Amino acid sequence: MQSRFDIAIIGGGAAGTLAAIQCLRQAREPVRIALFEPAPRLAEGVAYATDRPEHLLNVPTGRMSALPGSPADFLDWLALRDGHRDTAREALARSYAPRREYAHYLRDRLEQARAGSVATLDVVPLRIDALARDDDDWRLSWNDGQARARRVLLAVGNAPRPLPLRGSGALTRPRLVDAWDYAGVAAIGPEADVCIVGTGLSMVDAVLTLEANGHRGRIHLLSRHALLPLAHEPVHEVDDQLDVDGLKVLGVRGRLRQLRRQARDAAARGLPWQAVMERLRPHVQALWRSMPTIEQRRFLRHAVRHWDIHRHRIAPAVRDVLQDLRDSGRLHVHRARLDMATAGQRCVQLTARTHDQRILALDVDHVVNATGVEMRVQAMRSALLVQLLGDGLAGPGAHGIGVATDASGRLVDASGHAQDALRVIGSLRIGEAWESIAVPELRVQAEAIACDWFGDGAHASP
Ligand SMILES: Cc1cc2nc3c(=O)[nH]c(=O)nc-3n(C[C@H](O)[C@H](O)[C@H](O)COP(=O)(O)OP(=O)(O)OC[C@H]3O[C@@H](n4cnc5c(N)ncnc54)[C@H](O)[C@@H]3O)c2cc1C
Repeated sequence: MQSRFDIAIIGGGAAGTLAAIQCLRQAREPVRIALFEPAPRLAEGVAYATDRPEHLLNVPTGRMSALPGSPADFLDWLALRDGHRDTAREALARSYAPRREYAHYLRDRLEQARAGSVATLDVVPLRIDALARDDDDWRLSWNDGQARARRVLLAVGNAPRPLPLRGSGALTRPRLVDAWDYAGVAAIGPEADVCIVGTGLSMVDAVLTLEANGHRGRIHLLSRHALLPLAHEPVHEVDDQLDVDGLKVLGVRGRLRQLRRQARDAAARGLPWQAVMERLRPHVQALWRSMPTIEQRRFLRHAVRHWDIHRHRIAPAVRDVLQDLRDSGRLHVHRARLDMATAGQRCVQLTARTHDQRILALDVDHVVNATGVEMRVQAMRSALLVQLLGDGLAGPGAHGIGVATDASGRLVDASGHAQDALRVIGSLRIGEAWESIAVPELRVQAEAIACDWFGDGAHASP
């Protein structure tokens, strides 16, 4: 293939699909858009590729619209699907839909945008390996071909973190299963003893699948902090008495102290601590940007795990499943650092060091890597990112996480120049924005980039 496009979007997960929808909606002339995605189905990426009904969105239906200007769009779409037509709208808005529904929704909205657009969209089932400047264009390369584009959007998404232990190289599937390998987790036998490494949302997915398959073996959860995600309240309330601007002048310790005080104050007014987080949620990027580098570093070193479990919450029903498993003695949580794995004939021997310096030895049938998203760009195993960094077209983001971008997602090259025609959407913007992974941010970034490129300046800031 040798083609020239006006816009090339690299990556057709949720973020790339949202960007394609916005470009199609906002184009005012017949531009050519290409969406490069090697996976067989668009809009799935890592999060929405699961077919498992027990894997739920961790954001209520009423807040998962793809379109910033139509906040109830996902709710409206879901309400028309079989099985939901008789559900009261309020209850549906508060519900947590299976994640597999979300990819259908995005694909539907993409087709709708395509049908109503003057622009054309080519979906190209290829992985881009390299990007280079070619006069006024960008040249995109894959193993045996090239294309050119005037503007490029990197939507390459989430990279898995490798298992941090000696001996993991000797472990292969099915002994070692990635939590994002949904079929691999589902294939674990019900009698197996399993150790899940990592205690965040990917761990929750794995436990839910084991449970849905009638698991009877022991499940060990292991992480350095042993902190599990906390749950949403059934009703989302917002504590509008929190002074967000007042937080911006404080350092990390001061902010956390103030938030704890606010949570106590909210409780006295009958509001849960979640209401304080809800008030904070739309301001997280501004709060991150208002912190000096040294304070950001302090946050990453000392507060990030506590932040994560309060920010990335699970549905109340999911929390109940985990609690029942713990209460019944089938789920064991260990606070320990993994050290070594030895693969035997019939099982895997794991050794770990607990927080109080004891040696923990576990014999299990399977190890599930649920360590989550890799944030350090240098550790991501993407040929494209390695090439961009190597050629100086990109540099690591603040603190080495994500890539360097400006607030509009322009990729900043090694000499500090922000490239207007080379933009980034999603988790690679983490160093500049911190909160840049979930749909509420992705849809705003997608809209803002399309507005910039199509000359309509009227959009919310990303
Ligand atoms: C398990 C899980 C559950 C989540 N649940 C929620 C939720 O309930 N609500 C919410 O708001 N957010 C949720 N998130 C956050 C989630 O990250 C985003 O909602 C969204 O899925 C991110 O999409 P993405 O397109 O940026 O990344 P990804 O999903 O990682 O997709 C990136 C895509 O880019 C493609 N790609 C990569 N490199 C190349 C290349 N070189 N060339 C071509 N294509 C390439 C990949 O094949 C992939 O399809 C969840 C995340 C995870 C991991």
